[in-house]
Amino acid sequence: MTPVADLILHRASIITLDESNPVATAVVIKGSRIAAVGSDQDILSQRGPKTEVIDCQGKTVVPGFNDAHCHPIALAASLLSVDCGPASVRSILDIQEAIHHRARQTQRGSWIRANGYNEFYLTERRHPNRRDLDSAAPEHPVKLTHRSGHACVLNSKAMELLGITAETEEPQGGMMERDLDTGEPNGLLFEMNTFVDGKMPSLTEDELESGIRLANEAFLANGITSLQDATWNNSAGRWQLLRRLKERGELLPRVSMMTGADALEERPSFSYGGSAEHLHLGPVKLIIQTATGSLNPPQEELNRLVLKVHGMGLQLAFHVDETETLEAAITALEYALPRVPRPDHRHRMEHCSVCPPHLMKRLKETGAMVVTQPPFIYYSGERYLATVPPGDLKWLYAIGSLRSAGIRVAASSDAPVVPFNPLVGICAAVTRGAASGQTLLPHESTSPLEALQAYTIDAAYADFEENSKGSISRGNLADLVVLSDDPRAVPPEQIKDIQVLTTILDGKAVWQE
Ligand SMILES: [Zn+2]
Repeated sequence: MTPVADLILHRASIITLDESNPVATAVVIKGSRIAAVGSDQDILSQRGPKTEVIDCQGKTVVPGFNDAHCHPIALAASLLSVDCGPASVRSILDIQEAIHHRARQTQRGSWIRANGYNEFYLTERRHPNRRDLDSAAPEHPVKLTHRSGHACVLNSKAMELLGITAETEEPQGGMMERDLDTGEPNGLLFEMNTFVDGKMPSLTEDELESGIRLANEAFLANGITSLQDATWNNSAGRWQLLRRLKERGELLPRVSMMTGADALEERPSFSYGGSAEHLHLGPVKLIIQTATGSLNPPQEELNRLVLKVHGMGLQLAFHVDETETLEAAITALEYALPRVPRPDHRHRMEHCSVCPPHLMKRLKETGAMVVTQPPFIYYSGERYLATVPPGDLKWLYAIGSLRSAGIRVAASSDAPVVPFNPLVGICAAVTRGAASGQTLLPHESTSPLEALQAYTIDAAYADFEENSKGSISRGNLADLVVLSDDPRAVPPEQIKDIQVLTTILDGKAVWQE
């Protein structure tokens, strides 16, 4: 006997991303799973008296989106702060107005957080400084964070509260811009965010909660049913927080949480009473940097660490955003893999922003995959074209070449670094277009279907979840999105304007336009 459906979507144009059954017009959902995928005729027979039926009127249905690399808690915090991104402000004057506006609604003496500014897109073409922020909010401590997360600006009140003076010594790798004559810091700090955040009061529970609410809603409104938290220092505290959010139903998308290497020993103790389909551990994240002028961690230490984590049977996610660090990660894998052979390790290169052909070849040999960020092309393409050295620019976000080389590529936003609407990412992967109208390496374009795969089935693969999600297949989790248009059918530059009409997660409509 055929099971009676809880929910049926019919008269749909379904892009299943399931090779054995690529197109369908109807899908049957029973509980939290997909029970059948087929034609309207096959499926309407499973309709029972209590079955909910959604007539999609020919609209496109795709698997729920999976953001393979983002930072949900930082995103929640950023949604509470004053938006100073290029879409909202054009000048330092605009920033002052936005902060002044917030100051009027904020209790005197309370912190104002603002973020997303990019001096490249400000009319003045310079970073704001403490005086600029003082005139906007003299009575409130203000921290304005650069879009990259690598710089911030404090006003005088903030510096006073944090005890930052001309005598303050910068932490290692950090730099304060100072007046040449007096040595007085002008409020602009580089690579000192961790230092500053460590001294600032953290968000109150209430503040964080309202940020999470906004983030949750935004994820669902954008069709994101799964996300992978790639925060490098995730540890027991973050796991507990995510667990609480899950238990209270405050963060609905499925979450996979990476941890830092520091949490290696405590990982086995992270438990969750609910289903791993809703919350589980992801890879171990390793940051490789050259900010201080030399490779950090040094190659030998990296080799040892990679061998250790790989030897424990865990998946690694390397933060690599320049040629040198990518090469170091590949070298470490070349060291570790032959010592402990494991066929399906799925180690990941996060960003892999610049990948010249000789490294692509070595990368392919390691069997690692890439987790890229197509939205960066849209939001930062103009800046890349103006600032990335020509030698690197040739290989920037070379998604087409990576795919042709046989390297699996998943897509993500790195939110809150840039907004996370997957349709903007899919659009950018296809058109290679920046918001400015310029294009970045148009020959590296992918088809709409490939870009869709990168945000669904390939992202699931990056998390060892491709057998339960990422395609609309019988037995899979019932995570689906109804779109206003077919990304394959609209002019490529209009893909970003496609609307998410309905988001279905775990068999339930959790968001509707
Ligand atoms: Zn990131």
